[in-house]
Amino acid sequence: MNAATLLNELYSREVALLVVGPNRLRFEAREHSLNEELLLNLREHKLTILAILGKEGSTAKLLGRRCPFCLHVGMKIEETRKDELQYFDTRCTHCDEIVETLVADAMAAEMPVHELPDFCEQEVSAK
Ligand SMILES: [Zn+2]
Repeated sequence: MNAATLLNELYSREVALLVVGPNRLRFEAREHSLNEELLLNLREHKLTILAILGKEGSTAKLLGRRCPFCLHVGMKIEETRKDELQYFDTRCTHCDEIVETLVADAMAAEMPVHELPDFCEQEVSAK
């Protein structure tokens, strides 16, 4: 499971992830909504998820936003790798438009979070 798949899965299970400080990620979940496998994945992808969510981010802010194109509320995130770069596209689950693209250096996930390069944030306009 990659970081993007994990974020989608957690969001669909109504597990809230919240960045609460440098290198600190908090989750709020109902009983039984997080199993061992998801917890292991969460530990494994913690730094990537911190980088995707940003300094004060949360899954609610990232995936619970309203689409500017069709006004639907609800996003999914997709992870792709191209030319050694990692791309995280935030895409509307209704009209499939990309609302935001984050580009992370391929090494970012291996680095301590305070040394993470800033993500390039870019608005993608409609086709
Ligand atoms: Zn949409």
